[in-house]
Amino acid sequence: MKHTKRILAVLLTSTLCFGCCSAAFANDAAPASVTEAELLRNVPTENVSITSGFFRDYQRLTICQIIPTAIANVEKGTGGMPNIINAAKMHRGESYSGFSGALYVDSDVHKVLESMCYALTIDPMGDSAVLAAQEQIRSKLEEWIPYYLDAQDTNGYFDTYYILQPSMTKYSNVNNHELYCMGHFIEAALAHYACTDGTDTRLLEEAIRVADHLAATFGTGAGQRKQIPGHQEIELALLKLSLLCQTLGAGYAEKAQAYSQLAAFFLDTRGDYEGRAVDCDAWIHWQDHMPVAQQTEAVGHAVRAQYMYTAMAELSCVDPARRTLYASALSSLWNDVTHTKQYVTGGVGHSDHMEGFSTSYDLPNDKSYCETCAGIANMLWNRAMSKLDPTSAYANQIETDIYNAVLGCVNFDGNKFFYQNYLTSDTGLTRNSWYGTACCPPNLTRTLLSLGSYIYNISDTALYVNQYITNEAQVAFGDTPVQVAMNSNFPNKGNGNLTLSMDEATDFTLNLRMPAWAGSFTVKVNGTALRLSANEKGWLSISRTWSDGDIIEFDFSMPVRFEKTPDQVTTNIGYTAVRRGPLVYCAEAVDNDFRIRYATIDETAEATLVWTDSLDGAADPYGVRDLYQLKIPGKKQNHNGTEVVTWTLIPFYARSNRAQCAMSVYLPLVFKAQELHQFATPTASYTYPGDSPLHLNDGSDSPANRWTSWN
Ligand SMILES: [Zn+2]
Repeated sequence: MKHTKRILAVLLTSTLCFGCCSAAFANDAAPASVTEAELLRNVPTENVSITSGFFRDYQRLTICQIIPTAIANVEKGTGGMPNIINAAKMHRGESYSGFSGALYVDSDVHKVLESMCYALTIDPMGDSAVLAAQEQIRSKLEEWIPYYLDAQDTNGYFDTYYILQPSMTKYSNVNNHELYCMGHFIEAALAHYACTDGTDTRLLEEAIRVADHLAATFGTGAGQRKQIPGHQEIELALLKLSLLCQTLGAGYAEKAQAYSQLAAFFLDTRGDYEGRAVDCDAWIHWQDHMPVAQQTEAVGHAVRAQYMYTAMAELSCVDPARRTLYASALSSLWNDVTHTKQYVTGGVGHSDHMEGFSTSYDLPNDKSYCETCAGIANMLWNRAMSKLDPTSAYANQIETDIYNAVLGCVNFDGNKFFYQNYLTSDTGLTRNSWYGTACCPPNLTRTLLSLGSYIYNISDTALYVNQYITNEAQVAFGDTPVQVAMNSNFPNKGNGNLTLSMDEATDFTLNLRMPAWAGSFTVKVNGTALRLSANEKGWLSISRTWSDGDIIEFDFSMPVRFEKTPDQVTTNIGYTAVRRGPLVYCAEAVDNDFRIRYATIDETAEATLVWTDSLDGAADPYGVRDLYQLKIPGKKQNHNGTEVVTWTLIPFYARSNRAQCAMSVYLPLVFKAQELHQFATPTASYTYPGDSPLHLNDGSDSPANRWTSWN
């Protein structure tokens, strides 16, 4: 439902908060204590259909716009697909061209392929645009698959960077992403198998040949390579493939075991293997500086690190020995990242130079690289952790990530992308149509289309509602299937309901996540309000015998919160971020006729919400342009003193959809260094080319370099 310019006063609260905002709960990760019976399971994507609302809109945008954009880009010269085609032609004895693009470009195509398969699992619900896009995706898949099948070497090896350059020695450089690319291929093949309901095994068989080749090549046996991948990912793929093989019958049991053992080998070999380069920087970059079980501090490349932590957590779910071995490291690493190394948006990895972690509390806003893939890796890690430890902090973190660190990767039109997600810019930032290293856009598409797997966890006796996303899901307690239909007005409003359908009444505990940002709340069952408070794990728990047609209503207030970082984050002293519900807000100069770096925002004033049907005024066929803006009073300085201004803020994900202009998440609470131009307009009879007197004391550059010789 859309409301035009509806204005509504809301409460303001001021909070000291950091990172995932889950400090309201006991949220130190503690997976060590979990027993086999206490392990939770994610309700998988195939059992959850996102049926309407905010993320249904984004799934439609993904299928109808982003995936066609991605296909067009990977089919271009250096986009990756030409390498798959040329490798196939080479193996067929046809004339072919050499390798083009970045050495890891195979992985971009594989992730597009994986996303295309997920797109075919989304119920079109009669939407003609979705149906037409799915038809085109299906036909493109059939065009690609024969090339994929022929591109693989006969021994199972599959990386076109080496296949098309036969003089190069395979596996000679652990940083050349061979295993990363093969991992993404295995994940794509699993998505294809799933989207055909197991009826088309062509890509799965190819993936098994890849995994068999790797299992024969790497390990501690005679003639095997005791070596690790420089960019982690293969571990996750092998664990997924192992789980599928366990369901395929006796012939696959050995493979299932071999693949999970290989994943464990790649993890446990880090920090200790033959031929390890004598290069400490590189070790840290790909977390090879010590055995994983001893790692307590997140270092190096943020995507590699978090893919590895995810694999450690996923392996812990299926391997009791590894659960014990990794428990302390996972707990320390999670606390380190969550409490000291992430931005309010959930973004991690601030360093432009190596896309990685810095020291604790070193979180400069103007250098907040925050690769989209690092935000996605954080989601994967937290989803895996949530199975080991029934604490709502992981779900709170995933919510912060998806809305803030990840979603703003894409523009409203679905055809331009951010790789980096900076929290501030003086000059404004624009998304690119594609990238030479295009890891982020297809990582976004595969995440949005598999978002159903983040909504629920389940045990034998409890259902955990992690995310409030409109969906229909199938779960079961014992032999009793239960259908859950959730309606949610998130992220704009905190209310919604769940309706349960089942043939016979059944006992289980329904655990609703108490959002870390929520103010007051009400929960009703069949119209009767319950007296509930969040337990020590952050859940609102309702244990009872549930019956067909039971309705649970929830309503969490969404006060506007001013969230500050601890004083250790020195760049944020005197600044605040603004959050409402799951959304972190930002100011863009296009909405504010004062300089957003220097005006102040009043955290004690009343904010108003203003609904807009389309932020940029453009037609909105996918429904992604409608949102609440926030209006909050503040002050700016002028030659008479100060004057009142009104800040206009928009959700951070919606930034950079209109003008290229200054933008900031952190806003001043107190006046910063005053600028001369606010009191007088400087002029000069001569300026150096490209310079201007207005640059004088603008806070953006050292005046000493340019102005000391001037009166
Ligand atoms: Zn990326």
